[in-house]
Amino acid sequence: MKKEESITPNFATISPHKERMCPCGCETMFIPRRRDQVYLNSNHANHAYNNGKRKQKSKRQVEAEKQLRLNDKLLAKFYSYFKKTEAVVLSLNLKAEDFDHSFFIGHSFIGEELYYKSFNYLFREYEKDGIKLTKILTPKTKVYAKRRRTD
Ligand SMILES: [Zn+2]
Repeated sequence: MKKEESITPNFATISPHKERMCPCGCETMFIPRRRDQVYLNSNHANHAYNNGKRKQKSKRQVEAEKQLRLNDKLLAKFYSYFKKTEAVVLSLNLKAEDFDHSFFIGHSFIGEELYYKSFNYLFREYEKDGIKLTKILTPKTKVYAKRRRTD
C-alpha cells in the first residue's frame, strides 16, 4: 500500500495534463510533458509557424486577386452598356457593386490623364459638378486614341 501511494503522486508529476491535439495540422493526439507545450515537438511547432505565415500571405493574395477580378468584371459589365469607345459611369454605381478604386495592376497616361489598369480595362475617376465619375476605356481604345485621332 505504501508503494502505491508513492507511485501515484509520481505519475501525476509526469503526466498532469490532459491529452491534446497538436495544432500544426497533423491532428496527432499527445500528452504534453509541460503545461505550456503546445505542439508535439519542435518540428511540429516549426511546421505550424512556417505554414501559418504562408497561409496568411496567401490569404492576403487571394483577397487582392479576388478584388482585382471583381473590378475587371465590373468594368467589363459597365463598359458593355456603352456602344462607344469609352464609358463614363457614376462611381457610386460601381461602388454599389463593391468596385474598389484602390485596387489596380498598374497605371498609364493617356495624354495628361492618369488611368489605372485592371486586367482588361483602364479607368480614371474624376469629379464633375461635385459628382464622382469613372471613365472606362479598353487598352484598344488607347491605341486608337493615339494613332487615329480622326476616327
Ligand atoms: Zn503536429
